[in-house]
Amino acid sequence: MTLSRRETSERLDAHALAPKRSLGQNFVVDPNTVRRIARIAGVGPGDRVIEIGPGLGALTRALLDTGAEVTAVEIDGGLAAVLRQDLGDRVRIVEGDARAVDWAELLGPPNQGPPWVLVANLPYNVATPLIADLLDDVPAISRMLVMVQKEVAERLAAKPGTGAYGAVSVKVAYWAEGEVAGKVPATVFLPRPNVDSALVAIRRRPVPAVAADVTPTELFGLVRTGFAQRRKMLRRSLDGLAPAAVLARAFAAAGVRPEARAEELDVVAWGELARALRAAKLEAATAPTPAPAVPADPDRDRPEEAP
Ligand code: SAM
Repeated sequence: MTLSRRETSERLDAHALAPKRSLGQNFVVDPNTVRRIARIAGVGPGDRVIEIGPGLGALTRALLDTGAEVTAVEIDGGLAAVLRQDLGDRVRIVEGDARAVDWAELLGPPNQGPPWVLVANLPYNVATPLIADLLDDVPAISRMLVMVQKEVAERLAAKPGTGAYGAVSVKVAYWAEGEVAGKVPATVFLPRPNVDSALVAIRRRPVPAVAADVTPTELFGLVRTGFAQRRKMLRRSLDGLAPAAVLARAFAAAGVRPEARAEELDVVAWGELARALRAAKLEAATAPTPAPAVPADPDRDRPEEAP
């Protein structure tokens, strides 16, 4: 059974609940849309699904109908109580903030049991940092199909050389392959948001796109600095990181044009640049210091003092 617009309104009224904007509560009230999301997610019997923000359980029901096992994390105690009453015997419900969940404890170690798939209509206000953190910190989630604001979906899946390509696109590309998997009109929500939505599919790579000698912290630090001034040439946007000569050596070693802009580099090129910059800095720090110039004689031009 899925929830129509009328059933959603009635359920909220019956429990004296109203959609909270602060928690990004836009409920899907179109049964076809939730069925479509479950179908695109490609989950079924034997799969383990993690849903963030189940709300009243519209998508949860469609996911359960596929035969998948569902664990749902909901921050709103009022909604979690309704969900427990309606679906408590079929879904593991965790009441809490998805940004503070102990994921390792909730999902268990990666590669133990079937992989976890995140399927969610994410609260728009926290969607991007949440996806980024899950990619960084929760390897047990092997893939995601998430509904987010259309522009956010485009950024997550953007390719180099496009206006949507940014630091978060590089992060997704480092850990995974992302693609926009469909548009969702604002008309299927209650309340209706001012923006359209889209589904984005993110499939984790077996190993990150950049070899492990470059750490994620080092890589993403560089990427963030580059995109902080995305209109500037890299030799300008990165000039706070090392002296010009050191930067020039790093660009040459990485095969990156100093005049390129951040949006031109794919994740592999960012990795090359991070590695080359580290090497160039190290070289500069360990290069033998040139012999000090003979200090000028401070007394040279001073008139002789009278004895
Ligand atoms: N899945 C439902 C649907 O499609 O109708 C509701 C989706 S609604 C866009 C977002 C849901 O996420 C709400 O139920 C909201 O209470 C919940 N939520 C917001 N912030 C959250 C957080 N930090 N952790 C867990 N759930 C959160």
